Amino acid sequence: MVIGGGVIGCSIAREVTRYTPDVVILEKEADVADGTSKANNAEVHSGIGEKHGTLKQKLNVRGNRMYEEFVKGLGVDFKRQGLLIVITPRSLPDRVTGRLPALRRQLLKELVPRLILLSGKRKGIPGQRIVGREEIFRMEPNVTREAIVGVHDPTYGLVSPYKLTIALAEHAIINGAKVFLDTEVTGVNVEGGRVKGVVTDRGEISAPIVVNAAGVFADDVADMAGAGGFKIHPRKGATLIFDKETTTEYVRGSVAEAKLFVKKKSKGGGGMPTIEGNLQLGPTAIEVDDKNDTSISAGEIEEIFERFHYLLPDFPRRSVIAAFSGVRAPTTDEDFIIGPSDTAHGFVNVAGMQSPGLASAPAVAQMVLEILQDLGVPSEPRPGFDPVRPTPALFADQDRKGRERLIKEDRRHGHVICRCEQVTEADVVNAIHGIVPATNMDAVKRRTRAGMGRCHGGFCGNRVAAIIARELWMPVTAVTKDGGGSRLFAGETKHFLEEIG
Ligand SMILES: Cc1cc2nc3c(=O)[nH]c(=O)nc-3n(C[C@H](O)[C@H](O)[C@H](O)COP(=O)(O)OP(=O)(O)OC[C@H]3O[C@@H](n4cnc5c(N)ncnc54)[C@H](O)[C@@H]3O)c2cc1C
Repeated sequence: MVIGGGVIGCSIAREVTRYTPDVVILEKEADVADGTSKANNAEVHSGIGEKHGTLKQKLNVRGNRMYEEFVKGLGVDFKRQGLLIVITPRSLPDRVTGRLPALRRQLLKELVPRLILLSGKRKGIPGQRIVGREEIFRMEPNVTREAIVGVHDPTYGLVSPYKLTIALAEHAIINGAKVFLDTEVTGVNVEGGRVKGVVTDRGEISAPIVVNAAGVFADDVADMAGAGGFKIHPRKGATLIFDKETTTEYVRGSVAEAKLFVKKKSKGGGGMPTIEGNLQLGPTAIEVDDKNDTSISAGEIEEIFERFHYLLPDFPRRSVIAAFSGVRAPTTDEDFIIGPSDTAHGFVNVAGMQSPGLASAPAVAQMVLEILQDLGVPSEPRPGFDPVRPTPALFADQDRKGRERLIKEDRRHGHVICRCEQVTEADVVNAIHGIVPATNMDAVKRRTRAGMGRCHGGFCGNRVAAIIARELWMPVTAVTKDGGGSRLFAGETKHFLEEIG
């Protein structure tokens, strides 16, 4: 049993189905990928930003290497677009040779890039190289003219974190796993020092092995089993999203500014494209009290512009189409906590999965599988494991011929619902009736991109709601934005008019 349908829980569940179909994922929300796994920067980091020797650094480097193999058969795109680390006069704090400008410039030009290369080599990151000023501007014409030198890291990759998570859950399901949505674990049954199962808001479920992959709530779930002893302090990160033209015109790949010898709460962020081609700017790092705090204020938006204005001046502000925030799950030690409990046999914590959790997911799943096999999960691969997850083709991904073929196969592909992202009625219907069904607006958006374009659902929102209502035989007023109580409609206008006479 896996508690939590994020990228970590779904990666573990899919890995286990290679050996046994007896797996269940419990997720408290109405969809998988509805926690931090839907609200991050989608980068498969190389591990260069992590402290040498930590568990997250090792699993990041290993996970990055595994990505091509990891996504094979899932029908999910993965691209190594690389990262350009730009060294500027700000890359060393003032206290380092602040009064000796000539020496300082020399250090920035010669020493800093070498230190970055050395650090990459120690961590096992292949292919990093120093790039001169001219090459920097050839690669990224819009970065600050104060750039001194750069380091290119070719291993950095991009993946859609929510599409990946949904695909992993679906791949697990076609190989025998079950996913229970809207099912919150409220207690863990432990008898005689052994885990027996869990209590949920829909009843009790027994299981001899329970994996805690509950993201920011992993400390609470661990406490339910008496297997805690660590605390997660939620840290919010806000990001701006720009429309696709801005990405291609303004920033071509991922760009970050090097900052050495400063204490940071995150890797520092920068400008990075998504796999679908939108540019992102961010994220911030703000300690919050509430694990559900995914708010974003005007002040935070301004802070992002201020923070990255130096690295990427003249940023086209008017091209922002959305802002979002996600909550990281750091522990006091700022490292991943992965291991079986000493006090509740069969209970395994996979906690503290802050960034680079997405990049590390393949290696985390492999590490957890080994732990589970020690606890009794079979170690012989199953002959019946299906390596390919069936995926409906999206209209927008096809060339002209492919689109014509899709329309011939299903006339509803001839009806465009979301103009910005070219999403058709058939795409929406396929999402609603998918292996993990999309039952609300955001779930449809994550699978099809309806509402992710420049108008952000202004045109297609009501159409998607009507299709959900039609396909799921429910009144349109019951359609939600994101499950639970996130109702879109207060009621029918005529009823309100009747009420007030
Ligand atoms: C702003 C930001 C940017 C980031 N950028 C990157 C990046 O570029 N690259 C990278 O590698 N990492 C990045 N990360 C980190 C990455 O997003 C996380 O490491 C990863 O998503 C964690 O996945 P998870 O499955 O552990 O957590 P989640 O996705 O949160 O999944 C946990 C699930 O458990 C469920 N759950 C919780 N409690 C219960 C319960 N009691 N019962 C049932 N279900 C429960 C939740 O609803 C949730 O769906 C970023 C994070 C943030 C916030």
